[in-house]
Amino acid sequence: MQEAEELPAQLGTALPSVERLFDHLADAVYLIDPDTSCIVWGNRKAWESLGLSRDDVLDHSVLSLQKDVHGMPQWAQIAGAIRGSDCFRFIGRHRHQQGHEIEVEVNTTHFTLDGREYFLSVARDITRRVAQEADAQWREKQLWFALNEACDGLWDWEVSTGALFFSPQLKRMLGYGPDEMAPVLETWSHNVHPEDVQRVMAALQAHMQGKCFRYEAEYRIRNRDGHYLWVHDRGRVCDHDADGQPRRVVGMVQDISARKTLELQLQELASSDMLTGLANRRQGTDFLKAQVELCQRLGLPLGLAFIDIDNFKAINDLRGHLVGDKVIQRVGQVVKDGVRGSDLVCRWGGEEFIVIAPNTGIEPMGLVAEKLRLAVMRELASHVPPVTISVGVASAAGLSMDIPSLLEGADAALYKAKQGGRNRVALADQR
Ligand code: GH3
Ligand code: MG
Ligand code: MG
Repeated sequence: MQEAEELPAQLGTALPSVERLFDHLADAVYLIDPDTSCIVWGNRKAWESLGLSRDDVLDHSVLSLQKDVHGMPQWAQIAGAIRGSDCFRFIGRHRHQQGHEIEVEVNTTHFTLDGREYFLSVARDITRRVAQEADAQWREKQLWFALNEACDGLWDWEVSTGALFFSPQLKRMLGYGPDEMAPVLETWSHNVHPEDVQRVMAALQAHMQGKCFRYEAEYRIRNRDGHYLWVHDRGRVCDHDADGQPRRVVGMVQDISARKTLELQLQELASSDMLTGLANRRQGTDFLKAQVELCQRLGLPLGLAFIDIDNFKAINDLRGHLVGDKVIQRVGQVVKDGVRGSDLVCRWGGEEFIVIAPNTGIEPMGLVAEKLRLAVMRELASHVPPVTISVGVASAAGLSMDIPSLLEGADAALYKAKQGGRNRVALADQR
């Protein structure tokens, strides 16, 4: 081992007071000879922090302290890097006398004094910081794990790069393997149902622009075999850049297909008639309201036919209610088959039906009704007792059109048809 070198004269004269000051520093300071890697000077912390004495450190190579620098060739490389930068930062491990390691961040500068080159290294113990970072990383991992378990998928979108991370669960939900689904925004947006994509993007934009507290949407997304799943998706911006623009957005997805199917079934049940499968009175009323508005706006007539099975009590009485039910079903089907797809047939109640026909004046509506009357007679010709219908027809156009007077007009016409002997069509009086 080489003898400790004399310090340069300028340093030497200043040393007594400087040394005392440096001894109070929280970080270890080493003055190093770049050529030999020997420590030519150090403060108290330089040896005390490693459980060593002054003599153990001074005049020894920095390699004896560092666990991560092996031999002079590597030192030569490091020395080159130090010379090439204003301040060279190195994260390494120092050996403590008692055998354990100390994580250190070493910042080294280089300078020349009296024609000699020196490295000045300041080593900071970062053991606690590293432990805290590891702890935070572990917690984040645990949190992601818990979140993953709590839902069907997670995503993490880095806005500036467009990179979009999909959790393995999310990929599994959509039928993809862990290495499939390119991690970009388009992978997601291209698979959102075309009818939903605009609404979903608008919700996302509203949140990104700070108009909504969070992004939340229910939509259909295509899975690997081309089928659509219903999902509930929600997320939040969790990081902003210096300009306050969203930098990172994270969210969670829940597969709600089962719930949606049930909802749609319930909706269907609520709007359709159990016996005939036709629209029920509620749906008929909704349709009528919508068509009145539409026809008024477009200046079109709206036709309405009120259909009632003749002497239906007799059918029930003679053949029983089950046969009566069958007759209601068959008449409903004949009427449905006899009108246009844009018309709505609804079971208004009992053995009464209503046909709502947009863009149909009273005369054409009368012809439709007559066609239906004949179709019922034809289709149920062999029935005993015979099945016939009476139909009251009304139509309205323009601003005077309203639902009660349309219904009353058709009902009054139906009464006329019944009075006239049944099995016939009567038109409402034109107002
Ligand atoms: P009209 O020619 O004057 O219409 O005579 P009608 O016998 O048909 O008289 P009305 O319309 O007053 O009677 C309808 C009957 O339909 C009364 C009711 O018992 C029966 N009814 C109502 N709903 C149902 C049902 O869902 N199934 C069956 N089988 N019968 C029903
Ligand atoms: Mg009736
Ligand atoms: Mg009747």
